[in-house]
Amino acid sequence: MRKKLFAANWKMNLGPVQARELVRAIRAQLDPQFATLGKEREVMIAPPAILIPAVQQELAGAAIALGAQNMHFEDQGAFTGEISAPMLKAYGVTHVILGHSERRHIFGETDELINKKVKSALRHDLIPVLCVGETLAQREAGDTTQVLTNQLLGGLAELESHQIAKVTIAYEPVWAIGTGKTATPEQAQREHGALRATLIERAGRAVAHGVRILYGGSVTAENVDSLVSRPDIDGALVGGASLKADSFVRIVRALTV
Ligand code: PEP
Repeated sequence: MRKKLFAANWKMNLGPVQARELVRAIRAQLDPQFATLGKEREVMIAPPAILIPAVQQELAGAAIALGAQNMHFEDQGAFTGEISAPMLKAYGVTHVILGHSERRHIFGETDELINKKVKSALRHDLIPVLCVGETLAQREAGDTTQVLTNQLLGGLAELESHQIAKVTIAYEPVWAIGTGKTATPEQAQREHGALRATLIERAGRAVAHGVRILYGGSVTAENVDSLVSRPDIDGALVGGASLKADSFVRIVRALTV
């Protein structure tokens, strides 16, 4: 049984005061439920890097994991403006989002670069949340499956099956991110199923069936239930709707059947 993961990607939003308030508001609603909710689902919050220490303090004692939105693949060195896996680990970070479409399309990240970051995350015992997703033009050209396969296999290049078992995948169609357009549950399930089939070929059935594949792209309190009820949709990566406690908490409480 794969535990569902509900992950918040705050992107480049909030300041320290708002961030602390948001975590407190989320905890006020979720903490009393974790004895039951925590058996079947996990929660992660990825704030902007500079807010990680504040969020770490606010999360003390909570059953909520701390994530980062990006990192460099080297441990240290002359890489102005970058942050490494050991630095994130020092602040209690356990997950790192890698290859988000905004990193790919705005900052030009390639599968090769993302693969180096995935390897660094694994070396340092961070859980990589490897994002893949097609643009609207790629979908309309009928290239979705090929794009997703290339991004998946590129991000996982040279990894052994036991390492792939530690990776979480996020399917995030670019045309659905921050646009209010969501993939239908049928569309999302189809792509998740195809991604899992690729994982079976790449890493074997046992590993592939243990890997979580999250859906991301305009997930809201209103549409989350129908998405995460699908067999291969193992949770959600949430941008906009994770910036309000009520909507994020409702997403975490998604009805999964
Ligand atoms: C994201 O940032 O990963 C995302 C899916 O954003 P949104 O939920 O706002 O579409």
